[in-house]
Amino acid sequence: MARRAMRAGADAINWRNHLPTGTPMLFNVAQLLRQEVGASRRYELEAEEPVHAGHVELIRMPDGVLVRCEADVLLEAQCSRCLAAFAYPAHISFEEVYVQQVDLVHGHRMPEPDDPESFRIGMDNTIDIREAVRQYSETVADMRPLCRPDCPGLCPTCGTDLSIAHCQCERGPIDPRWAALIGLKRMTNG
Ligand SMILES: [Zn+2]
Ligand SMILES: [Zn+2]
Repeated sequence: MARRAMRAGADAINWRNHLPTGTPMLFNVAQLLRQEVGASRRYELEAEEPVHAGHVELIRMPDGVLVRCEADVLLEAQCSRCLAAFAYPAHISFEEVYVQQVDLVHGHRMPEPDDPESFRIGMDNTIDIREAVRQYSETVADMRPLCRPDCPGLCPTCGTDLSIAHCQCERGPIDPRWAALIGLKRMTNG
């Protein structure tokens, strides 16, 4: 599949190699947690997969920190017709309260949040937005991604990738369910 992947998503996949190391989606909020409700910080987001640009605003709340995030993301996908790997841009926007676990002013544990699923500020006073970014990226992901709008897909008879080559088979409209099965067979056979 690797060679096929390069065809459709070369630019997007190479982009990954230029990402800086480190964790640009991790924020230390120890100072913010010592400030009054309403205090805020704003940060530009550096590139870290899947984000390539964006910003966050962190706002002190009574029980934690409200994270407002706007980000341009690059989502990796597999074409639902030809099964090629590719990436496409999307935008995510969310507001989530990260619940405080430690009262920094008085030095004791905070009560457990009502919602066990809620995002939490780490015990080291950091907010890690990667999981939220992942979840919101999933919600904006295309259910039937196409590497390009007119992707001809695979021949349902012989499995030829019709955007690369022609085959001699007769065929009607391509049924994506067949395309998926043929793709599986190809991966198995090599
Ligand atoms: Zn395709
Ligand atoms: Zn064919």
